[in-house]
Amino acid sequence: MSVKRLAALVLALLFLTGCGGGSLAIDALDKDRDFGAFHASAPNVAEANRGYALVQDALECYPEGFAEQWGRVNILLVSSLTGEEQFSDGHFAGFTQRTAKGWLMVLDAGRCDAGTVHHEIAHILDGILTEAGALTEADWMAFCPGSFSYGEGNFEDYPDFFADEYAMETMKEDRARTFEDAMLYGAGVYEDKPALWLKLNCFAAAIRAHFDTTGWPEKTLWEQSLE
Ligand SMILES: [Zn+2]
Repeated sequence: MSVKRLAALVLALLFLTGCGGGSLAIDALDKDRDFGAFHASAPNVAEANRGYALVQDALECYPEGFAEQWGRVNILLVSSLTGEEQFSDGHFAGFTQRTAKGWLMVLDAGRCDAGTVHHEIAHILDGILTEAGALTEADWMAFCPGSFSYGEGNFEDYPDFFADEYAMETMKEDRARTFEDAMLYGAGVYEDKPALWLKLNCFAAAIRAHFDTTGWPEKTLWEQSLE
């Protein structure tokens, strides 16, 4: 049995479905493929299993039933994910695209980590909230420095306003990096960074306002640092 065939069998078992119109599926790429500006190869079994375990662990950090409100999400595990965007050495841990049917999250199963998965989930949440008008540009820009524009400026000038230089590239990346760190570091993550705390608070409030939070804990993992 070839490695690819084995991977296909292993991953055939990894299909999760939800109710309420949403579904989340995890699959592995089976041959080289281009995704617009990105290129990827098929993962081997060890990589696919690693990626699958990471995704499973990351999803357990969210309230039960939340993912089912994200619409159709296809998570595709790949290997050797490369692209031509700025701000990288050409290698990527993952990206997320809006598709006609929902969302496609592509993860390099050998490179991605928990932060990558939370970051890409943040892009999905951001997309849903923005499309619904639950999160606006003005809401967010209120927590950025007065004269700031995305894609400009040096991180050294705004260390308290952004998670890192990448977060200064676009509003989407800013939101995703802000949320990602909250998921990874929990309580106290923005203790000394009020602007980032306010951004997280803004994102968290939009999530609470837009989604059905029935049965959610008083504080989700991303809300651990919020009072
Ligand atoms: Zn991103």
